[in-house]
Amino acid sequence: MATKIVFIGLGNMGLPMALNLVRKGDEVCGFDLSPPAVEKLVQGGGRAGADRAAEVAAADIVITMLPASKHVEETLLGSGGDGGNGGAVAAAKAGALLIDCSSVAPATARRVADAAAARGLDCLDAPVSGGTAGATNGTLTFMVGGSAATLERARPTLQKMGKALFHAGGHGAGQTAKICNNMMLGIQMVGACEAIRLGQANGLDAAVLSDIMAKSSGRNWVLELYNPCPGVMDNVPASRGYSGGFGVDLMLKDLGLAMEAAVASSASIPLGALARNLFDLHSKAGAGALDFSSIFRTFERRPA
Ligand code: NAD
Repeated sequence: MATKIVFIGLGNMGLPMALNLVRKGDEVCGFDLSPPAVEKLVQGGGRAGADRAAEVAAADIVITMLPASKHVEETLLGSGGDGGNGGAVAAAKAGALLIDCSSVAPATARRVADAAAARGLDCLDAPVSGGTAGATNGTLTFMVGGSAATLERARPTLQKMGKALFHAGGHGAGQTAKICNNMMLGIQMVGACEAIRLGQANGLDAAVLSDIMAKSSGRNWVLELYNPCPGVMDNVPASRGYSGGFGVDLMLKDLGLAMEAAVASSASIPLGALARNLFDLHSKAGAGALDFSSIFRTFERRPA
């Protein structure tokens, strides 16, 4: 029998992830504040639900892929914030599994886990890496927090959306791993932009320089798969006006989580803090909804 899944949050990542579950035989009912997002799931063979609490109550698995902590807390814990008032934790049937794939604060993951445990439900924080291409191709990396037994229970479902599954530790550990990874990604993106712009300002072709660096010691994910310079790579946000992809404001949120974690643990993150401020200024200049590689624009040379 097909696994009944409720998937909440059908944005740049959630929609292709949900479509992979549909393609691989699950019965997926989707919810999103945006009706066109739900319509795309329906076109791909999923279902639109009318009553979210009723659909959650009938689901074997509830997956969330929402922007930030507050959306996850509202959706899973409800207005009371404790799982007892209108959220999916309260609505879920006995034995259901909750998987939050959003990138949020580790404290949010632990609050959800506490509320789920109070109802005897299994839950995991399982944020992802791999971008929209990884979500579409089913090649995401999952960084999982929760018990090893719950990870084994979730494995067949996660494997329909991703290829690498890591058990980072207990509840919240998946989110901590994701925060560290994205801080490094934010720093690398800024570094790649700086280097490409420096090369261009000194007469180099951006594509040639990117190729050289991608095969030299400056090599990294941005240069290999997500070049920020328009026209260097096909099928990346830079080559479609920085639309789709991973929003500046989402990167800003993740770098803010890194700073909170650093303050709370007395860790030093000078480059992470600098990257946060650069993305903050970029967002304030009006780029919040563009892909994060659009920070390339802030390194444009002053006209002579
Ligand atoms: P997105 O903004 O494209 O999608 C979020 C979706 O959630 C939107 O469609 C929005 O309408 C919906 N939503 C918001 N509140 C809702 C609610 N209460 N109920 C139902 N739907 C609601 O964001 P995204 O790029 O898909 O990212 C989702 C999460 O994954 C974020 O936490 C992000 O940091 C993380 N992430 C994104 C990427 C990426 O490359 N885009 C990669 C890894 C992780």
